[in-house]
Amino acid sequence: MSSSAGPATLEGYGSCSFKGAVADKYLKEQGYDASLLKDLSWPKNEAKAKAVAAALLSWATDNGAKQYSHWFQPMASAGVRHGNAGCLQMAMFDFDADGVPYPSFSHENLLQGETDGSSYPNGGLRATHTAGGYLSLDPLSPIFIREDTMYIPSCFVSYNGDALDEKTPMHRATEAMSSQGKRLLKLMGYNPEGDLINNIGLEQEIFLTTRSAFYNRPDLQFTGRTVMGKDAARGQELSDHYMAPISRATGAFETMKQIQAECYKIGIPLKTRHREVAPNQYEFAPMFGNVINQIDQNLMVMQIIEEVASENGMAALLHEKPFAGINGSGKHNNWSIGTSTGVNLLNPKQLNKASGNAEIFPVIMAALVSAIDKHGDLMRLSIASPGNDFRLGAMEAPPAVMSTYLGSSLTEYLEQIKNGKMSEYSPEKKSLSFGAANVPDITVPAEDRNRTSPFPYGGARFEFRAAGSTQNVSLINTCLDSMAAEAFKIVADRIEGGEKPLDIAADLLKQHEKCIFNGNGYDPNWPDDAVKRGVWRIDSGVDAIDQLDSEKNVAMFSSIGVFSERELQARKSVLLTYYTGVVEMEALTMIDMINKHVIPSVKKADVGNPNKLNDGIKQIKSALKKIHGEENETKQAQMARSLRLETMADVRKVCDDFEAKVPAEHWTLATYDELLFLDTFPEGEMW
Ligand code: ADP
Ligand code: MG
Repeated sequence: MSSSAGPATLEGYGSCSFKGAVADKYLKEQGYDASLLKDLSWPKNEAKAKAVAAALLSWATDNGAKQYSHWFQPMASAGVRHGNAGCLQMAMFDFDADGVPYPSFSHENLLQGETDGSSYPNGGLRATHTAGGYLSLDPLSPIFIREDTMYIPSCFVSYNGDALDEKTPMHRATEAMSSQGKRLLKLMGYNPEGDLINNIGLEQEIFLTTRSAFYNRPDLQFTGRTVMGKDAARGQELSDHYMAPISRATGAFETMKQIQAECYKIGIPLKTRHREVAPNQYEFAPMFGNVINQIDQNLMVMQIIEEVASENGMAALLHEKPFAGINGSGKHNNWSIGTSTGVNLLNPKQLNKASGNAEIFPVIMAALVSAIDKHGDLMRLSIASPGNDFRLGAMEAPPAVMSTYLGSSLTEYLEQIKNGKMSEYSPEKKSLSFGAANVPDITVPAEDRNRTSPFPYGGARFEFRAAGSTQNVSLINTCLDSMAAEAFKIVADRIEGGEKPLDIAADLLKQHEKCIFNGNGYDPNWPDDAVKRGVWRIDSGVDAIDQLDSEKNVAMFSSIGVFSERELQARKSVLLTYYTGVVEMEALTMIDMINKHVIPSVKKADVGNPNKLNDGIKQIKSALKKIHGEENETKQAQMARSLRLETMADVRKVCDDFEAKVPAEHWTLATYDELLFLDTFPEGEMW
């Protein structure tokens, strides 16, 4: 059991996060209070930095933390490390001349750190002889304690200042979005206090299975997904798992409860928990907040999920597609832009009231529509994690076409703006009757929901529904914020050039409305129709990644200072080699499983000639050899993709057909029956 697990009480909420009342108490000992942390420039002031370090040491000591760690986010590690983060843990004490330890933590210790940049994915930006990698504290994200370690969220760059992580570009992108957005708002007579903030809320889907079954699946252990496995006799066809009670036959309920409790301690508001559509699939959702903070919290949520599950005899699977034949897992990225005082720019009522100018909302919407239409390739590549290959376009996640759903009322409104007719957009909620006199009417949003669009607008936020469950969503939001920044910049430049804001909005809508699609995104004709309309559609994630350093994207990112061309090239290389590496692990795991499990079982049960399996192994090996012989990283990844989606899929079919014939007593791998039905196959009985 985890030492810090326990009932989720509000008293414990946030006690291990250095903010609010907790920070106030310890900073007061140093002659300051928690307002010090609100001004993000405190690390630049030595006296303040010293006070924060002293307060942290006292707080850490009181809470049993003896280590500190600059906690950072190496590039493209989706799914291969707990929570995708990195940390070097250092003791918070020193030794005096007599060798006696005393507590010690200086402001220098707090503000910066160093690690070997060449040992993380770096796309050629670092090498063993040029290895410097440096960490700087991120003042936007609260420091927190977990177990005996104080975590200091940090940004990670090379000796030359090139971003080596997911977090640094995310900061650059929000800053660009804020400065260009504020410029635009000011030109339209609205000058809100402070920075603009990108708020996101991340719904996290996972699978839980028993740990003993997990240990009988080398593929789950090494790659996070099953590379073979015959369907169980039942799946999700009756929709009986969705929102069903959380299984108490195993550790699932304890796991869910403890995950929330551990999150509450470090101030993560993980509000919702429920079962999802597929058997053994679960979801958590937090309350939304600042993107920088939310991403850090989501990484910790993923780490806590994996750790708590293992402590309860369970294994958490964060992969996008652990099982074939049933839904995979995503991480809906709910996205909005607001002022520091909480005015949501995507909420027309709030914006109109705060700004007193009803023209701003349509101008912002037109700018965002133009951004989606121009840069759908970036949206597509930002969700191109290897696991998402199996989800996009299936009937569980929207297709690889980057359109947006605005709903009929907003679309009609923007149509009028396009035709030069201005009015205030103020959608009314509607009253909904249940048709029974004793059941009270309720009020619901003006628009229905569309779950088939990758980027639907829901009245106050966009929801990027295609994000993968293992992803660090920084690249996604770095792209969205950069796209918004560029669009705001273009509009602001044009206003400064003498054009009227509404004329610009009308012009942008005329050029870019083609990416608005309110229909059924799962309609098989839609992807082809989308191409005819000129909407971005990139079916292959690898081909999407290949666009990262296209001329258009280099120009866009460098115009707003988010990525240099060199950084884009490095990041593309990391994403491609990461993809190929993942496929190689899957292929080698499949070969091992066939040799060590499938062939012996087939022979023992005497259910047919295993030659087809040996042929399959040969095909996989020869494909791997070709990949190794290719030098171009894009081509390698393309070859890896077809190995995975074609060759390995064919070989899998052979394995699964044999599995159907082998008697249970001779089948040595955990089956889908055992992996997917916690209520029916309790821990301990099968293995
Ligand atoms: P659903 O499954 O219906 O999409 P949930 O309530 O499960 O909705 O999750 C919605 C997520 O969106 C939550 O994390 C919520 O905090 C977040 N959210 C709500 N409003 C906003 C907003 N304005 N900006 C960003 N995120 C938001
Ligand atoms: Mg959602």
